[in-house]
Amino acid sequence: MIPYGKQHIDDEDIKAVVETLKSDWLTQGPTVPMFEQAMSEYCGAKYAVAVNSATSALHLACLALSVGEGDRVWTSPNSFVASSNCALYCNAIVDFVDIDIETGNMCITALESKLRKAKKTNTLPKVVIPVHFAGQSCDMESIATLASHYGFRIIEDASHAVGAKYDSSFVGSCEYSDICVFSFHPVKIITTMEGGMAMTNNPALAESMRMGRSHGVTNTEQSMTEPSHGPWYYQQISLGYNYRMNDIEGALGISQVKKLSEFIGKRNAIAKNYDELFKSCPKIYPLIVNNRSYSSYHLYVIRVTNLNFVKKKELIESLRNEGILAHVHYIPIHTQPYYKALGFKCGDLPSAELYYQQAITLPIFPSLKPSQVKFVANKVKTLLDELEK
Ligand SMILES: *Cc1c(COP(=O)(O)O)cnc(C)c1O
Repeated sequence: MIPYGKQHIDDEDIKAVVETLKSDWLTQGPTVPMFEQAMSEYCGAKYAVAVNSATSALHLACLALSVGEGDRVWTSPNSFVASSNCALYCNAIVDFVDIDIETGNMCITALESKLRKAKKTNTLPKVVIPVHFAGQSCDMESIATLASHYGFRIIEDASHAVGAKYDSSFVGSCEYSDICVFSFHPVKIITTMEGGMAMTNNPALAESMRMGRSHGVTNTEQSMTEPSHGPWYYQQISLGYNYRMNDIEGALGISQVKKLSEFIGKRNAIAKNYDELFKSCPKIYPLIVNNRSYSSYHLYVIRVTNLNFVKKKELIESLRNEGILAHVHYIPIHTQPYYKALGFKCGDLPSAELYYQQAITLPIFPSLKPSQVKFVANKVKTLLDELEK
């Protein structure tokens, strides 16, 4: 079976994990700050806050930007539910901006017209969460320009985009955002088993997220509101959570990030290979990566323009029978039952819904061989031809 994505673990990773297991620290030891430092150096952001998942990082990011009851948060419907759930955790009102069907990312024109309307009705968002779908950065410069004009803050959901670039900067540099969030789930670019991280250049936001990941408790005297009672003393000064990353995860992260650029190089080579193989197929459109972006290719997605849900189901079942675990990213969030109960309905976001009908995710991961890429592409082509008959 060829999955759509999977982790790449080598002997160095295993050694790092075993060494940590034998050490004095399983949690709250040295590896997490070391991993944070490695990531902030890699991406070029001043601060990195490691947590136990990207979902936790998104929650802490919303809290750090004071998202609360009645505030509005906008994101992309073409994402995993965590991108919008984080706002609901804070009792905010969620809304979605339709996508550009060719990239799968939030459409800037749709964002601009939605902002214009929201301004008239006094319903502007406090925070917008662009999602770098499949590993391609959104047009961050345009979003940042709109942010300063309409007065909202930006959290990048870069769960797919560790190691990707926008112009000459790495995603995570926060050049155009307040906070940028990564996921280290095994199916993502690098893994810590479960894990996530929030990057920022703002010391107050970093401090808020550090406190939030560990109960709102501080051990450092400078942050205390009353004199310390002695060396055992700690103070709770806000309501936080236990969202910490542990030292085994941190050690794996340090070992994985050393291979990040190699992983991205391999993923780009695989994507280029697929692109070539689909070049002469009139109905198959690989996602377009624009020239300001260097994608991390977390996902390789094709759109098949004459697909409907009946044919799509048949195609994906046939691929699975051939050992190819093709997948679909994403079911538009607003069409999930939980979101329908909040008032969203099918038809609200036509591009995201049409995209969902057409899109298929094909296998991509660093150890996928060129012969497997060819096998997958040929199967897709022949099965599509058969469906035409
Ligand atoms: C995977 C993913 C998340 C959640 O990541 P976890 O680390 O599993 O919490 C959030 N947003 C997007 C776009 C994702 O792909």
